[in-house]
Amino acid sequence: MDHSTSMSTHLKHHPCCYTLDRRAVGPFQDQFPTWEQFFIPHGPEHWTMDLLTANTLQLRAAGVPAAQIDTASICTACHKHDLYSHRAEGPEAGRGMALVALTSCARAQ
Ligand SMILES: [Zn+2]
Repeated sequence: MDHSTSMSTHLKHHPCCYTLDRRAVGPFQDQFPTWEQFFIPHGPEHWTMDLLTANTLQLRAAGVPAAQIDTASICTACHKHDLYSHRAEGPEAGRGMALVALTSCARAQ
């Protein structure tokens, strides 16, 4: 597969930034049999979510080689003075944007 991906800044699985309760984790438990690979227990009925691992596992399952997955290792909640974080700042936080582009396109003959 000739794809590369970049994952932007995101919430890290810091207990101070992204702890979820069973109500939030339940849909992931229902949808992903491997949910324990990207949820780290953090107290009774609470977990921190490792978004990077969750997204990387999905990309790898789709056939994207690990060497072609690039990530930004900045937590939006920890860097809310530079980035927007709905989780850290609430609904009044600004919004981020992403730009996606194809740099080449192979056409079926
Ligand atoms: Zn953080």
